[in-house]
Amino acid sequence: MGFEKFGAVSFTTETKTADFVTYLEKGQVVANRCKKCGRIYFPPRADCADDFSSEMEWQPVQGKGKLMTYTIVSYGPSGFENDTPYILALAEFPPGVRVFGRLDKGISPEEIKVGMEVVVTPVTLAEGKLSYQFNKA
Ligand SMILES: [Zn+2]
Repeated sequence: MGFEKFGAVSFTTETKTADFVTYLEKGQVVANRCKKCGRIYFPPRADCADDFSSEMEWQPVQGKGKLMTYTIVSYGPSGFENDTPYILALAEFPPGVRVFGRLDKGISPEEIKVGMEVVVTPVTLAEGKLSYQFNKA
């Protein structure tokens, strides 16, 4: 099983972190953590950038995150043109995992405030593809 089920546009089909998609199928968004130094990565990485260790373990991104910043995308890149406008955001979850993703389209721009609490949840896109998004906590 590869990575082709992830996202509206798949840029790669094979990756050592393809289990990320398996977790999405099970309803969970995960980061991964280096067993050697404890650094946490999102998106997950196959190898630690600090010590090059490949001893990584999956770690759920859970709890309430804080919205750190966001932008309204009016002109989408190739493959996303028909999705605009949408909102890209960066949120930080305990214990300091920064996740980049979309805000739920049901949240109006007037409601969005830096510092607001969000949760991250898997979503199913067209043709059974999987992704995740932020919802209000
Ligand atoms: Zn490490």
